[in-house]
Amino acid sequence: MVFVDLHVHTIYSGDSSITPKRLVDALHTHSFLKTVAVTDHKTMEGYYHVSKLATAYEDILILPGIEVLTTQGDIVVIGAEERPTFPITPEETIAFVEERNAIAIIAHPYRALTSLGDYARRLKPTAIEVYNPNATPEENKIALQLAREMNLPQVAVSDAHAIEELGKGYTKINAAQNMEEILNAIKNGQTQPIQNPQI
Ligand SMILES: [Zn+2]
Repeated sequence: MVFVDLHVHTIYSGDSSITPKRLVDALHTHSFLKTVAVTDHKTMEGYYHVSKLATAYEDILILPGIEVLTTQGDIVVIGAEERPTFPITPEETIAFVEERNAIAIIAHPYRALTSLGDYARRLKPTAIEVYNPNATPEENKIALQLAREMNLPQVAVSDAHAIEELGKGYTKINAAQNMEEILNAIKNGQTQPIQNPQI
């Protein structure tokens, strides 16, 4: 069993205050959250820096990720070591993911800005964010309905842009702490979305 925050931004996103060092320090001191996907906007730069720092800690795992603003809205890609080229459509993003055996998560599907909304229904993503603190409770509720209707795995994330937000939402995944197992477990729906009411 592993607890994973699948959506975290660093300063390389341009809109986050989380430095690689602060993120690794926070994971080091956290009691159970030791695995995150660094999902900056448009760049893998933050992931490279964070994963390098994290090599000093045996219990911390950093997953390569990127938040891809497609022509229709945001998709979080996890498990690919390279970024796609932009501009990119949602369909091209899903193809990019499939070619690399990575995963595609529909980010905050019904948040007002940069979200896919019902367009997600036309796609074959891996999973849906059913809890993202940057969406309203109502928007998250519709996201949960979408995941149920599409019969897709459900994840919760923090979408943290400040270190205090880390772990606000996270996903309990039925896997050991390695990337291949985690991605396979998500694909197989071995996920439990969790909201942390303390944050
Ligand atoms: Zn984000």
